[in-house]
Amino acid sequence: MNASLDAALAAFPGAVPIPEFLDNVSAELATRGFTLEHTFAMVSTCRDELTVPLMRAVTERLDLAFNLGALGGVPSLGRTGWNAALSHVPMHEGRGHVVVLGMTHIGFGPDGTPGESLRRHQDHPTATCGALMSILHSEGAGEPLPDALDDNEKDRLRHLMKRVSHERSGTPLGITQRAAQAVTAEMWVDLDALEAWRTMDVAAYCGVQVHVQDHEDLIAVTDAQFVGADGVRTSLPT
Ligand SMILES: [Zn+2]
Repeated sequence: MNASLDAALAAFPGAVPIPEFLDNVSAELATRGFTLEHTFAMVSTCRDELTVPLMRAVTERLDLAFNLGALGGVPSLGRTGWNAALSHVPMHEGRGHVVVLGMTHIGFGPDGTPGESLRRHQDHPTATCGALMSILHSEGAGEPLPDALDDNEKDRLRHLMKRVSHERSGTPLGITQRAAQAVTAEMWVDLDALEAWRTMDVAAYCGVQVHVQDHEDLIAVTDAQFVGADGVRTSLPT
């Protein structure tokens, strides 16, 4: 009996453990000419230490991965960073292969409460994702900043989510799903603008990394798309 796991699976019925998610990605992309040896990985996750298992699992399979992410999991490297990342993609037989994983995240507390996690050596749950829950709590309200502090990443995260919708998201689950949409949108803004497809095949899987108490993380894919040499984006099975 794990109330956290029950709540996580009720919220994300299709979520699977990270190894299974990566197996699914590998199997799908193998049919499109991606190989473990020649595929370059880029990962966008929140700064939260709880997200590390995803990056660790990716680097164990695909060697070193470029880190795209900022608070909430949105890519936040700007044009310069994207150009750097894309310039690192190896060419094999004239073309590169890159897999991009963009995951926001949420925790489910010991009693199944969404939007929190009981972390190692702490005696009470804290917000997960902290940035998203902070935005959720201030939805519709102004938030003065003390002098000499900025909040660039949170401001940008809030801005990107407003582009998805101006409606209040209302719940931890709602704002997490909004963030996953923002991650997808922001990912493709740059990949499209830089026309990565001209020199490489690109597959992007976006969604939610779900932290479950006393259980391995799960991944819920909310969007998967591929673009190849014809420059046309198509959906991949999720
Ligand atoms: Zn976070």
